[in-house]
Amino acid sequence: MNPFDLSGQVAMVTGTSGGLGQGMAVGLAEAGADVVLVSYSKPAETAAAIEALGRKAYIIEADLSKEEELTAVFEKALSFQGKIDILVNNAGIIRRTPAADHAHQDWHDVIALNLNSVFFLSQLAGRHMIERGSGKIINIASMLSYQGGINVPGYTASKHGVAGLTKALANEWAGKGIQINGIAPGYMETDNTTQIRADENRYRDITARIPAGRWGTPEDLKGPVVFLASSASDYLNGHVLNVDGGWMAR
Ligand code: NAD
Repeated sequence: MNPFDLSGQVAMVTGTSGGLGQGMAVGLAEAGADVVLVSYSKPAETAAAIEALGRKAYIIEADLSKEEELTAVFEKALSFQGKIDILVNNAGIIRRTPAADHAHQDWHDVIALNLNSVFFLSQLAGRHMIERGSGKIINIASMLSYQGGINVPGYTASKHGVAGLTKALANEWAGKGIQINGIAPGYMETDNTTQIRADENRYRDITARIPAGRWGTPEDLKGPVVFLASSASDYLNGHVLNVDGGWMAR
């Protein structure tokens, strides 16, 4: 018996055209799951990688910051195999400008995707999972679920919210057979961090502070997401797992 086996399960992962979402979607497929890929731009490469493993990949193109579209997105996801066993709320954006100049539209855009869509999709998935008596929800948090960051007030507020929501939902649904946990990635090499990696001084300072001595990659999230999606974590509720090369330990 392999407690990490996801054969026969359907995972829904948001934000899968590249970056961490791509890595996690492929990781879940490697563990045996079929995957519904929800993304703003077509996740063709991710779908091809999943199909090459002999698993099914279903694509939904959607703007998850549009609250009015989320019910249709979830119903479409459900229609492929009639169930969703695992939801990974990964889609997220960041807008970097000093707080004094931070445009209200940037604040609203970030909160709409990073926080509102996480709650609304979790609510839709939660109702379905409560009916079935099982399910896993994994929310992608951040080091800025704990720290303040610089020039990213909306992002920091949204990621603190994600950590709080993970605990709030876990408290309500743990007794219904649903595990809700989070992953807080450290500094990872994706589009999300292009801007700070382009700043030589910041890149060097951040790298020097990471005990592992390197930035993370989408591959680094495969093991943690499979653990949180599988029966190996059936007694884990409301936990946010730091996958940060030791950043928070320092
Ligand atoms: P990324 O920019 O590479 O990926 C973001 C994904 O979200 C893409 O697939 C994109 O298509 C999708 N997306 C963007 N706007 C969308 C919308 N309106 N509707 C639907 N999908 C949308 O960035 P990433 O680093 O892979 O980020 C993934 C998650 O990880 C985010 O929640 C981010 O906040 C979080 N995170 C990243 C880091 C890091 O260092 N890269 C650290 C901590 C947390």
